[in-house]
Amino acid sequence: MKGNVTGQVRLHAGEEEDLRRGRQWFYRSELAVVEGPAEPGDAVEVVDARGRFVARGFYNPASMLAVRVLSTRREEAIDAAFFRRRLEAAWAYRQRVLGDATDACRVVFGEADLLPGLVVDRFGDVLVLQCLSLGTDRWLPAIVEALVDLFAPRAIYERNDLTVRDLEGMPRRAGLLYGDLPAQVVISEGGVQFVVDVAGGQKTGHFLDQRLNRAALRPFCHESRVLDAFSYDGGFGLHAACYGAREVLALDISPAALALAAANAARNGVVERFHTREANAFDELRRLEKAGERFDVVILDPPAFAKSRQAVEAAYRGYKETNLRALKLLPPGGILATSSCSYHMGEELFLSAVHEAAFDARRHLRLIERRGAAPDHPVLLGHDESAYLKFFLFEAL
Ligand code: SAH
Repeated sequence: MKGNVTGQVRLHAGEEEDLRRGRQWFYRSELAVVEGPAEPGDAVEVVDARGRFVARGFYNPASMLAVRVLSTRREEAIDAAFFRRRLEAAWAYRQRVLGDATDACRVVFGEADLLPGLVVDRFGDVLVLQCLSLGTDRWLPAIVEALVDLFAPRAIYERNDLTVRDLEGMPRRAGLLYGDLPAQVVISEGGVQFVVDVAGGQKTGHFLDQRLNRAALRPFCHESRVLDAFSYDGGFGLHAACYGAREVLALDISPAALALAAANAARNGVVERFHTREANAFDELRRLEKAGERFDVVILDPPAFAKSRQAVEAAYRGYKETNLRALKLLPPGGILATSSCSYHMGEELFLSAVHEAAFDARRHLRLIERRGAAPDHPVLLGHDESAYLKFFLFEAL
């Protein structure tokens, strides 16, 4: 077989359907037989129960996601040129859909860019990369070479220090893959500046998916008192401060995150109006309510409460609880900006958790905007994991 493809994987009857709908992997349970030499990380040919070609993909028997789809074209070789073409296409899409208000964006969003398990974020002239698929990991040298040609970056940094890599049988690693890191990596998000902690920050250093949702706060911030719960590096709160908030309180459980937020506040010249508090948001929201504190805008952007399907029920309670507490802090006309990044928590389910919270708080909610991730995190229909982010902006009546 051509193009570095070794063995063949035969699916159980009908399992090719999900790929036709958009899903970019096959679960282990969907494979009937593996024939020929198929080592972990090899590209294999996937055929249906009757032996007809379905796709080419990376095989990894150690993973639940046993085949990651690469191409549905029978003749497409899986080589350095293949990765270069996919990276070029991913960048061409960003140039098409993004304005020029930011020097930072997600250049590659894994399966939604038909690049299994690969994430590349661009922070100015620094690229940060994560890889969650064994097959793709093997091609990193070729991927790095193509990224150097495409972006002429100062540095490419790998943040593969992820526990999920254990599930794929891959070692955890972090460090430079190319060039040298500048002393400070600074980006501008529509005029709001962030120092990005590429080596030590969460995930790739800064959450780019909420970029435009932060900007959606603009009309509500002037002279307002804002609570940014689960603030990390101050993403939402700093936007609010730069849009004229009278006072911002950023809450996070991580002192490292709050140190970043404070440094970013200084950089944007808003330190007098921007305060941080290290606390568990679940406790602190209650405490603020008891203390009679009120905010004109409350932002909730917690980590994924539902990391698996089994965790959805507990997550629902978590979302309901935090939203209920947030509502208690809002006067009539106050703004609730609420998010969920758990893809197991569907949009309607999340909305219903917020709705129940409003019922319990005896408030009515007027939906101002229903948003998702910025378009550099595209949703590939049928590949449900790409539609993970929900963001709602409400007026609490
Ligand atoms: N709002 C941020 C991203 C938040 S990520 C942005 O716009 O970029 C989620 C944050 O929640 C992390 O910084 C994490 O440290 C924090 N966190 C997790 N559990 C928490 C808790 N129980 N209380 C407060 N913060 C928490």
